[in-house]
Amino acid sequence: MAAAPLVEICVDDLDGVLAAELGGADRVELCGDLLEGGTTPSIGLIGRVLDRVSRIGVQIMVRPRGGDFVYSPAELEVMRADLRAIAAAAAGSRVAVGVVFGVLTVEGRVDVAAMRLLIEAADGVPVTFHKAIDATDDVIAAYEVLRGLGVERVLTSGGPGSAAEGAETLARLVRVSADGPTVLAGGGVRPGNVRALVTATGVAEVHLRAQVAAGRGDGGLVTDVAIVRAVVAEVGRNEPEPAPPRAEVVLALDIGGTNLKGAIVDATGRTLLTRLAEITEPGDAALQLVRTLLAGLAAEAETAGFHVVGAGVVTPGIIDDGVVVYASTLEWTRVPLGAVLSADLSVPVHIGHDVRSAGLAEGLFGASAGLPDSVFVAIGTGVAASIFSSGTSTVGATTSAGELGHIPAIPGGEACTCGQSGCLEVYMSGAGLARRYLALGGAEALTAAQISERLTDDPIAAAVWADGLRALSLGLTSVTLLLDPAAIVLGGGIARAEDTLLVPLRELISEALAWRSAPVVSRSLLGTAGGRVGAAVLAFRAAGRGHVADSWQQATVLAEPETAVLQPR
Ligand SMILES: [Zn+2]
Repeated sequence: MAAAPLVEICVDDLDGVLAAELGGADRVELCGDLLEGGTTPSIGLIGRVLDRVSRIGVQIMVRPRGGDFVYSPAELEVMRADLRAIAAAAAGSRVAVGVVFGVLTVEGRVDVAAMRLLIEAADGVPVTFHKAIDATDDVIAAYEVLRGLGVERVLTSGGPGSAAEGAETLARLVRVSADGPTVLAGGGVRPGNVRALVTATGVAEVHLRAQVAAGRGDGGLVTDVAIVRAVVAEVGRNEPEPAPPRAEVVLALDIGGTNLKGAIVDATGRTLLTRLAEITEPGDAALQLVRTLLAGLAAEAETAGFHVVGAGVVTPGIIDDGVVVYASTLEWTRVPLGAVLSADLSVPVHIGHDVRSAGLAEGLFGASAGLPDSVFVAIGTGVAASIFSSGTSTVGATTSAGELGHIPAIPGGEACTCGQSGCLEVYMSGAGLARRYLALGGAEALTAAQISERLTDDPIAAAVWADGLRALSLGLTSVTLLLDPAAIVLGGGIARAEDTLLVPLRELISEALAWRSAPVVSRSLLGTAGGRVGAAVLAFRAAGRGHVADSWQQATVLAEPETAVLQPR
C-alpha cells in the first residue's frame, strides 16, 4: 500500500502554522498576505515560525507582489536577497525548510535564466516552483523545463482551473515524475474532495488553504485546525500525531483590586502552580509587578521542562484589543498591556475583562454551563455583569457592556462615584454597603460580609442590607425582562450568603415580575477560581489551541495545585 499523501497547508501567520502543526499536517507553505494569493512573508514572521515549530516542514514563498509572475530586474534582485536571507535562516533550523517561487517570461514560459539566478541564491535549499506553472500555455512542457533546472517540486492544479478540473494533467505529470520534480497538487483542495483527487491522480502530496472567517469582522481569515485534521484523516493518516516533545502550558493571571493571582495551567485545565503578589502601588509599579510575576512564572515553567505557549491576563477596567483603556483602581490609562507582555514573554497574550472572563468560565464549567442565555453578576467592591445571549458574549459598541452596577436602581437616590445618582452599586456592593452602614450611623466600619451576619440584631445593618437587596432585585428584574436569561449566576464573596442574599433575592425578583417567571438565580460554582480558569481558556485560545478546553472537567479546573513547587517533567 502506498504511503498516505503528504499534506501541506498554505498559511500567512504564526497562528496558522501552529494550527497546521497541531492538526497533523506535514508541511506549511508560509506566505505573507494570502488575500493577495501569497507574497514573501516578513523576516520577523519567518524567524518566529522557525523558532516555534517542532516537527512540521516549512516552505517559504518568495514573491515580491501579487499579480503576474513576470518580474523586473529590480524585483529579481529583491527576490535573490530574500532567498539568501532565507537560506541563512534555514541553515540553523531544526525542521526541513524549502523555498517556493516561479518566474515566467512575457510569452508565458518558464524564465530559465531568471530561475537559474534564483536557484543559485537559494544556496541548496530545495526549490518548489509554484502555481505560476498553471499560467503557462503548456504545463507538461513547463514541467520538463523545471526537471532540467533541478527543481525539487512543482505546485500545480494541472492547468488554470482547480486541481479536480486538472486531474487528467496531474495524473500525466505523476506518471513522468519518477526522476523529476515531485507533483504537489493544489487548487480548490478540500476535505470533501481530497480523497477523490488522490485516487484519480496518484499524487503523493496535496496543498490547500484551511482558512475560515476570523470573526473579527474585517474580512480576515484564520487557519482552522479542524479542517487540517479533516484533510489529514481523509488522506488516510488516522494514527494520532506523535506527542509533542514537551507538555504545553499557559500562564493565567487574574489582576484584582489588591493583588495578582498568577498560575501555570496545563492542557487538561489543571493548575500546576500558583503565585501571588500584593499590589502595593498602582500605576507603573503595578504594571512592573505584573511583568515580573509573569516572567517569573514563565521561567519556572521552562525550567521544569514545560513549554509555555500563551498567556491570558484578566483585569478590571475597559479593555480594547489588548489595551487597558482605563482601569480606575490600577490607575491605568491606555496601557498597551497585551503588546508589552507578548514582547516580554514571546508568546501570544490575550487581555480579557475580569468579569467577562469569569462569566466565560462559569458558562463553560460552572453554574451556567450549557446555557446559551445567561448572565453572570460579580458583586465585589462594585458590581458588573457578563452577558451571554444566544451563546455569544456581549461586549458592546464601546466594549463596556455589562456595567450593571451603574444601572439607575433608585430614582433620585444617593450619588455614585461615577457621577450618576441612585446606581445599583451605591446600595449593593462591598463598597456601597460599608459606606452606607457608617453613613446611617453604624458604630464601626464593617465589611459587607459582616453586615450580612448581623441582620437580626443590628437594625442599621438590616436596613442597609434591605436597601441593597431591593436595588439588586430591581436591576436583575430589568436584566430578566431585557435579556430573558435562563440563569443569573452571582459571583463574589457576598454571593455565598445563601439565606440572607439568594433566598430573599429570588422572592423579590419573582414579586417584581408580574406576568412571567423568574430565571434561576444561583451562586457561582467556580468562585474565585473563575478568573484564573477564564484567563487560562483565553490563553489557550490566543495560542491557537482553544480546542483543548473543550474536554476540561469542572473538578480538574477547580483543583488547587498539590505542591508549591513545579514538578519537573
Ligand atoms: Zn454609578
